[in-house]
Amino acid sequence: MQEINQTSEATLLLPDEKTLAENFAKIKPSLTENEAIIEASRCLFCHDAPCTIACPSSIDIPLFIRQIASKNTQGAAKTIFTQNILGKACGVVCPTQVLCEGSCVYHGLNEKPIDIGRLQAYASDYALDRNLRFFTKGKPTGKKIAVIGGGPAGLSCAHELTRLGHEVMVYEASPKAGGLNMYGVAPYKLSNDEAAREVNYVTEIGFKIQTNTKVITQKEPQETQDASQQCVLLNELEAQFDAVFLSVGLGKSHRPGIAGEHLTGVQGAAEFIYQLREQDLHIPVGRRVVVVGAGNTAIDAAVETAKLGAEVTLVYRRRAEDQSAYDFEVEHAKLAGVKFLYLTSPVEIVGHTHVEGLLCLQNEVLGLPTDTQGKVDIMPIPGSELLLPCDMVIFATGQEKMEAFYRQIPNLQLDRGKVKVNEHFQTDNPKYFAGGDCVNGGKEVVNAVAHGRDAARGMDRFLSGGAA
Ligand code: SF4
Repeated sequence: MQEINQTSEATLLLPDEKTLAENFAKIKPSLTENEAIIEASRCLFCHDAPCTIACPSSIDIPLFIRQIASKNTQGAAKTIFTQNILGKACGVVCPTQVLCEGSCVYHGLNEKPIDIGRLQAYASDYALDRNLRFFTKGKPTGKKIAVIGGGPAGLSCAHELTRLGHEVMVYEASPKAGGLNMYGVAPYKLSNDEAAREVNYVTEIGFKIQTNTKVITQKEPQETQDASQQCVLLNELEAQFDAVFLSVGLGKSHRPGIAGEHLTGVQGAAEFIYQLREQDLHIPVGRRVVVVGAGNTAIDAAVETAKLGAEVTLVYRRRAEDQSAYDFEVEHAKLAGVKFLYLTSPVEIVGHTHVEGLLCLQNEVLGLPTDTQGKVDIMPIPGSELLLPCDMVIFATGQEKMEAFYRQIPNLQLDRGKVKVNEHFQTDNPKYFAGGDCVNGGKEVVNAVAHGRDAARGMDRFLSGGAA
């Protein structure tokens, strides 16, 4: 571990290659053929398949598991990809503990559920390793569709539209397509190489992606433009294409608006994780890090900084039972050495030019929620100030929705910043469809993939003259 004296006030850590490889090793290692067949053979192939019902992309789970058990791994991959073309990513990044595996009947027998996620990743890898292709470009329809955002929803939509014979162009603002898979998920779940390989596999069906390209609603002043990106005007796309699919992700991380947010060492969690993925883990990190928030992104940022060598404390204004992070993610963070401070709110970041500490106030519980969805009422305790010395503060208290962008699209209806769609993912402006984060406010990769696939089918109906 190398220490960098960045300023007189801060010491940053830069782990060596060996430490990075050890600390960021896969938490769900790949199954061997024998392991996969043995695990698949445990499945009871339930007729009502609660695992499939719990899967947001409705993969026929007992079917693909039976195919693995009978050594038809190619068939298993086809079963998975028919419903979810990003089957590999979803096999390793899905919160399977609360989805398919959480519904497995083995829980009722007090036995370990089937390792569905790893079986799915095993079959998907089999197809990706051999470049087995199950789908081809459909007979040309003459229709052209623009997809804004090359994340899981956009890729899934573009793949399905191409199968259906439409010509698709994906516009992606980042240097690489993949969205969350490339820049957002924890690298110990899915590596950059794995994410890129899957993007290439999906794209090879025959649609185009234009990266480093931002879609804007009006010309921006030269000085505010990012020189590495080109801009395309939305109304020009609207004129050129028969339909537009909005798969725009979320924006910048929220900041709470407290003193000291300008100091070096203050970051948003989404930006931190983006940078970590973009630089393939090679980023310096503070020796002591405080992460603010208690959702799954907060946990990811906390675990990642801990794996980079930092002492990490996560502060959350409410109680442990109020945090939105999955329990298994919280346990994983504790195993990585992250400390949790509940009923604690940040009030000021202290330091000269660089972060030196986070001043917090402790909270007391005023009233318990009246329903399971409600949040506990809290109030700061006067005089309970607590200074947490640190070199980095990471805010993981949500991300902005791209409301200003959506508001420029005529007739698009919004619901608390999210784009409103019908059951076919068509918005109130018939030319526009939407899915993924911009519709659900930020859920799992698998939800975005399912949205993209179903929106493509809705667009196909609309473009063929039927109602969407
Ligand atoms: Fe197999 Fe469990 Fe699904 Fe039943 S619920 S089909 S045992 S994975």
